[in-house]
Amino acid sequence: MSADCLFCKIAAKQIPAKIVYEDPDVFAFEDIGPQAPTHLLICPRKHIVSLEDVTDEDELMLGHLQTVAAKLARQRDLQQGFRTVINTGQNAGQSVLHLHLHLLGGRSMRWPPG
Ligand code: 5GP
Ligand code: ZN
Repeated sequence: MSADCLFCKIAAKQIPAKIVYEDPDVFAFEDIGPQAPTHLLICPRKHIVSLEDVTDEDELMLGHLQTVAAKLARQRDLQQGFRTVINTGQNAGQSVLHLHLHLLGGRSMRWPPG
């Protein structure tokens, strides 16, 4: 855990959030500013700043984020489609420096993203 990190504090239940999934490695919660009818953030418990910082030992965890996203999408009846996104760094608009996978669904989406 990083003492100053918002998502580490959510994982530790020091800051409230609507947590929808937890296991020993990963937790997921509702985004506070949803950009779609379903907008969840799926995070490793391990404090990793971004995809820039992952190493080979994070490979299982990175796959796990996606399989958790797929399960949550099934639970929420997103059969018509959904999007998983990891914003990395300034140009991508990453605003919270703890790696997280966005799961967005429940509306049609455009491509390319802005
Ligand atoms: P990023 O821009 O880093 O890819 O995504 C960060 C996301 O975290 C944003 O979609 C933002 O709405 C969400 N967020 C920021 N602060 C909080 C918070 O305190 N609680 C929750 N649940 N989500 C947050
Ligand atoms: Zn953190």
